[in-house]
Amino acid sequence: MKIAVLTSGGDAPGMNAAIRAVVRTGISNGHEMFGVQDGYRGLLEDKIFPLTSKDVSGMLSAGGTMLGTARVPEFKEVPVQMVAVDNLKNRGIEALVVIGGDGSYKGALALHNLEFQTIGIPGTIDNDVYGTDFTIGFHTALNTIVDAIDKLRDTSSSHRRCSIIEVMGRTSGDLALYAGICGGAEFIITPENPINKEKLIATLKKHNEEGRRHAIIVVTEQQFDVHKLAAEITIKSGFSSRATVLGYIQRGGSPVAEDRVLASRMGAFAIEQIMAGVSGQCIGVRNDKLITTPLDQVIDHKKDRAELYELVNKIR
Ligand code: ADP
Repeated sequence: MKIAVLTSGGDAPGMNAAIRAVVRTGISNGHEMFGVQDGYRGLLEDKIFPLTSKDVSGMLSAGGTMLGTARVPEFKEVPVQMVAVDNLKNRGIEALVVIGGDGSYKGALALHNLEFQTIGIPGTIDNDVYGTDFTIGFHTALNTIVDAIDKLRDTSSSHRRCSIIEVMGRTSGDLALYAGICGGAEFIITPENPINKEKLIATLKKHNEEGRRHAIIVVTEQQFDVHKLAAEITIKSGFSSRATVLGYIQRGGSPVAEDRVLASRMGAFAIEQIMAGVSGQCIGVRNDKLITTPLDQVIDHKKDRAELYELVNKIR
């Protein structure tokens, strides 16, 4: 059987390890493996090429994605999706592995609905994919953020400052929530736990009056202008504040051990599921067991994080 693999949406450390596992498990089961350049873009432009075991050597520890990734807004249209299916079928390819996040899963579901065998692997630093405890790349990005928080704490403590750190995550607060717990943040502001500015300023005013040397606030991106918030806190609470936007550094780097193991397990499992005839499902890990969930039950669903937000209040 001929099987293709692509990476789509935002890149994430560990995507290469997943590609490697998909390709090697496929080949060792007697299949012919193909890579697609730049996600759904490559499907539309017929940029599909064979992948050998050697092509993926050295990829376990490499950051980014060797296949490239892209955002392709027009892939929401059915006639465009049909071009993708035609290009795959013209090469005799019968199944596709999509490594990406929630958005990429919508594309994968569309291909499944056109009766093309498709399976998803969760690759995104945001951990915003329902149907898996963790996504590939989350732990690496989390470690990058925690390292940054530790460094920012050193300098904010020296200068007696409040440090506001904006992290990625889009509509999911997981990176901010986990990093805030790891970094001992005083405040964690996420889409699930929005800001109460008056309370925040009043608390920081109190901290300032008590003579505390630093405060850490971790914020998910796209909620507000963190530089303006820092200026407002400085003026209204008297606690001198600075904002740092961590940006794209969070998406890079060699994957940490958790992501390498997760990617390898999920990649191999995806091929086993394809061989079993599974389609329209995505791979996940729950209680350390690999699982599959139908894509339409995963897309646009959110994880329950009540216990972790309660924890933040307990240990603050
Ligand atoms: P992620 O997969 O990281 O969540 P995006 O949300 O940007 O990233 O989605 C990646 C790509 O998935 C999009 O550029 C588009 O090509 C495809 N996609 C997103 N939504 C849909 C949809 N509703 N139907 C088909 N394809 C989609």
